[in-house]
Amino acid sequence: MTTNGTIISYYFICKTKLWLYANRINLEDNSEDVRIGRVLHEINEEQSKNAEISIDNVKIDKITKDYLVEVKKSDSDPEAVKWQVLLYLYIIKQKGIEKRGKIEFIEKNKQDKKVHYVDLTDENEKELLQVLEQIQTLINRPTPPPPKLESKCKKCAYYEYCFI
Ligand code: SF4
Repeated sequence: MTTNGTIISYYFICKTKLWLYANRINLEDNSEDVRIGRVLHEINEEQSKNAEISIDNVKIDKITKDYLVEVKKSDSDPEAVKWQVLLYLYIIKQKGIEKRGKIEFIEKNKQDKKVHYVDLTDENEKELLQVLEQIQTLINRPTPPPPKLESKCKKCAYYEYCFI
């Protein structure tokens, strides 16, 4: 499977999850957080005529004159989102488009949104290419990396798979 936004974010969230997802072991997640994420995604899509742009195997929320915009429902995994956006910036750069990354975190039950900016520098582009290589190595393992129980596991769709 070619690395998409979900896969690169799972690399920073949990490598077991990355392997399971990339090897198509998908469990339906109907948790509240996931449903909220879907609704926010739909609202965002309605609000913008240019909503969601598919390029290669990734779906970008929005591209404006200056920014590539990613909208998230919480800032619980900022590092994962940063690398997701760096991947998108890298993909559009290959198509001759250079933008800054803008991440909008819209908190549950809050009107406010936090905005972070990210740029694809030479340094983090090099790091990104290394991450992409490591992801392919991980995906090609015959078995998943052993799961480690952490607080985030309770909300994970793979919880039962890993620990029950
Ligand atoms: S339950 Fe925990 S260890 Fe298992 S895939 Fe999810 S986050 Fe990773």
